Amino acid sequence: MRAREKGSVGECGATLSVRDGSLLEADAVEHDGVHQRHNEIQPFDGGDGAATGLVSPVPQRSGAQVGGGWIEQFADAPDVLKNALDQQTVVRAGGVEIGGGEFVTMAGPCSVETERQLMETAERVARGGARVLRGGAFKPRSSPYAFQGLGLEGLKLLAAARAATGLAVVTEVMAAADAPLVAEYADILQIGSRSMENYALLEAAAHTGRPILLKRGMVATVADLLQSAQCVVSHGNPHVILCERGIRTFETATRNTFDVAGIVVLKEVSHLPVIADPSHAAGRRSLVPLLARSAVAAGADGLLVEVHPDPDRAWSDGEQSLTFAQYDAMMADLAPWCALREERGCALETAV
Ligand code: PEP
Ligand code: MN
Repeated sequence: MRAREKGSVGECGATLSVRDGSLLEADAVEHDGVHQRHNEIQPFDGGDGAATGLVSPVPQRSGAQVGGGWIEQFADAPDVLKNALDQQTVVRAGGVEIGGGEFVTMAGPCSVETERQLMETAERVARGGARVLRGGAFKPRSSPYAFQGLGLEGLKLLAAARAATGLAVVTEVMAAADAPLVAEYADILQIGSRSMENYALLEAAAHTGRPILLKRGMVATVADLLQSAQCVVSHGNPHVILCERGIRTFETATRNTFDVAGIVVLKEVSHLPVIADPSHAAGRRSLVPLLARSAVAAGADGLLVEVHPDPDRAWSDGEQSLTFAQYDAMMADLAPWCALREERGCALETAV
């Protein structure tokens, strides 16, 4: 084979650039409507010194609605991708619509600690415009010595706070065996970041029929998140809310790196509602309000945010929890951005 050649690949008509037997580049190839990927093109020396190549067909994936191009990487989650029939799923939970146009704030403490702490927080966040109360009764803690949550007692307190305020309740379920119990008390089951790939848990949570708030794993790609959502949907539960909560990167100034682009991608490719959790992304309360603003601008359908009556004395995640005053200020700041979002539509028209 000569040093650098251009040759064509038979009936497929690819043009190859080859040097010393290695493929440098190939132009786009369409074959039977299938876009061939470059690494499927094997250059070889045809014997007459001219560079040529073989194109092996790329197997078609099952997602019928998936077109060519970058979106192909989400083809393993066909049922959660936008298609002609499903452009936007609206999840209904405890009288609240998520994905329906209204920007929905879910707020409350990281952990349910005491009746007083939860009731006071529930009343304050409801007054400030939240529609859903968050609070962990079962806590996934990195340290086995840290507070693990009140368990059933916490679930009962959440139900009491719902009765007192009218807020819907979202709380985490950590074990498959607990799913029916948590579903008795909660309107939305949260699957935490550390559990995103716990498929037995996803299945058990799906079977309760309750809406599922699925947090992105801290080292999960957007495609991984969509595959876990597909898992829930494939077990008969289409009521899934996706949550971007920050991912691990080399950056240490923030607890995680808030992937705003991930929100935009999810909104573009999936019909499921997407909410943002700036608290776990930031790790510091001072950063939360502006990250929340960026989530509104990126097209998120809502917010999950930690609020505590006395963050410095919180039993978990105090550093990233807003005080009541900070929560009120954030909600006031978000109001005009949310109004603009409603005026212009939740997201820009995107061509998928
Ligand atoms: C939480 O919401 O308190 C929580 C533990 O979140 P994550 O799973 O995103 O870390
Ligand atoms: Mn937390």
